[in-house]
Amino acid sequence: MSQPAVAAAPGSIVSVKSLVAGQWVGSASGRTSDVFNPSSGKVIAKVGLSSAAETEAAIEAAAKALPEWSATPAVERARVLFKFRELLLRDFEKIAQQVTREHGKTIVEARASVQRGIEVVEFACGTPSLLMGQTLPNLARNVDAETVRHPVGVCAGITPFNFPAMVPMWMFPVAIACGNTFVLKPSEKVPLSSNLLGELLTEAGSPAGVFNIVHGDKEAVDVLLTHPKVRAVSFVGSTSIAKYVYETGTKHGKRVQAAGGAKNHLIIMPDADLDQAVAALQASAFGCAGERCMAGSVALPVGNVADKLVNQLVDVAGKMKVGPTDAGTAVDMGPLISGPHRDRVASYLAIGETEGAKVALDGRKDAPKEGFFLKPSIVDHVKPEMRVAKDEIFGPVLSVVRCNDLESALAVGRNCPYGNGASIFTQSGYAAREFKQHFNAGMIGINIGVPAPMAWFPFTGWNQSFFGDLHIQGTESVMFYTQGKTVMTRWFASTQESAHDPVWRSK
Ligand code: NAD
Repeated sequence: MSQPAVAAAPGSIVSVKSLVAGQWVGSASGRTSDVFNPSSGKVIAKVGLSSAAETEAAIEAAAKALPEWSATPAVERARVLFKFRELLLRDFEKIAQQVTREHGKTIVEARASVQRGIEVVEFACGTPSLLMGQTLPNLARNVDAETVRHPVGVCAGITPFNFPAMVPMWMFPVAIACGNTFVLKPSEKVPLSSNLLGELLTEAGSPAGVFNIVHGDKEAVDVLLTHPKVRAVSFVGSTSIAKYVYETGTKHGKRVQAAGGAKNHLIIMPDADLDQAVAALQASAFGCAGERCMAGSVALPVGNVADKLVNQLVDVAGKMKVGPTDAGTAVDMGPLISGPHRDRVASYLAIGETEGAKVALDGRKDAPKEGFFLKPSIVDHVKPEMRVAKDEIFGPVLSVVRCNDLESALAVGRNCPYGNGASIFTQSGYAAREFKQHFNAGMIGINIGVPAPMAWFPFTGWNQSFFGDLHIQGTESVMFYTQGKTVMTRWFASTQESAHDPVWRSK
C-alpha cells in the first residue's frame, strides 16, 4: 500500500483520501466536506471532494485494469474475495467501530450491518457457479447452443450515509467477482468505513485499478453518470436522486439499478401476539434511529387492538436508553446523522400536530444536548393523507394510522408512492396470505419487523423505491453485472460447404 487511507492531520481531524489505481490520493479540488461524529457533534475528518478530472482519472484506472481482470479466471477472482472475507473477519470489530463513529449506530447495530455486508462477499465467493451458462446440444442438426456470461466493464457505485460499510458491500464484491472493475463514490457524510474496505481488498490481492474509491459529491456523480467508459451504475439513496441517477445514466447508455427512499407499513391484526408485535415494531421503527430504508414508519393497527398497541409501544419506546454510541456504555439508540437532519425529523412532530394528529411520545423532550439526538417518538391518530403518513421522515418517528379492517390497511399501502417493505402481525394464515398477495410493496414480512432480504435474495423494492430492472443482491445482481452471449456451434467432419448449414441455408 502506497499510503495509509487516512492520514492524520493537525489536531484530531483526519483527511480522507481517495483510492485510484492502487494509490491513496488527496483531492486537489480545494473543496472539502466535514465528517462528524454524530454522538458528539464534533468534526472528526475532512473529505476532499473530487473534481471532474479526478473522477475521470479513477474511471481511467478502472478501464486500464479491466482487460487483465476480466481475463483472470473466475475461480482466481473468487479467491481474492475469499481472502477479503477472511480479512473482514479479522478486522470485524475495527470496521464496526468505524461505522459507529462516523454514523452513530450502536455498536450492536454496526456489527450486524458489517455481518450483512460480509454475507454479500460470501455470496460473491460463489460466483463461479453463478456465472455458469446453459447448453443445449443438437439444438438444430449438429448445432450446439450455449449461453455464457461476460462482465459488462467498468461499473460505478454511489452509496448513501445510512450503512457506511454494508451498502458499498452490496455492490462491488459481486461486480468484481463477475470480472468487472469498479469505482465507488461513497456518501461524503461517511467516507471512512469505505476506505477500510479499500485497504482490506487491496491486502486481499485485488490488483491496482480493479477497485477504486473516489470521494466526492454531485460533481463526481455526474461524471460517473455520463462518462462513456462507465457501463453500469448501482445507486442507493433518496428517491429524487435515484430518479435523477436512473434517468441520466440510462440516457447516457448505461444500465442502472437505483434504489430509492421508502415509507414502510406494519399491520397489526387484532389476533396478533401483541408482545411479539410490539417488540418487532419497536426494533423496526427505532432500530438504527429509524435511518433505514426498511424501517417501519407507519403502524396500521386493525380494529380494537389500537389502544393496547399504542400504550405498550409508548411504554417500551419511552424507556429506550438514548445516548452516545462511542462512549463504551450500552445504549438502545444513537444519534441521527447530522444536526440539520435531526431538526428536519423533529419538525415532523410539529407538522403532525398542526395536521390534527396527537404526539403520544415526544422524543424532543430530554434528548441529549451534545450530538444530534432525537428520542423515539410516536404520533397517533394520523390520517393517511397527512404528511407524517406520506413523507419519508427517515428518523425515529412512528406514525399510527388506525384502521377499521384489513382492506383499509391494504388501501393505505395501495396509495403509497413508495414500495420497499411491509409487514403483518397476525395468527391468521388467511389474513397473512391476503396481505402477502395484495400489499403494494416488494419486500413482505409475516410476523417479521424488518423484512430485509439477506445476500442470497434480491432487494426487491417497487414503485418509487426502485428504478431499473435488475435489483441489488442475489442472482439479479449477477445478471446486472454481466451480459449474456449466446453461442451456436457447428463442427464439420471434413471441409464441407457452408451451404449445408441447416440454420442459415436459404434453399
Ligand atoms: P442521498 O440521495 O442524499 O445521497 C445518496 C448519494 O447520492 C450520496 O453518495 C450523495 O453524495 C449523492 N448525491 C446527493 N445529492 C446528489 C445530487 N444532487 N446529484 C448527484 N448525486 C447526489 O441519500 P442519503 O441521505 O445519503 O441516504 C438516505 C436515503 O437513502 C433515504 O432516502 C433512504 O431511504 C435511502 N436508502 C435506500 C435504500 C434502498 O435499498 N432502497 C437503502 C439505504 C438507504
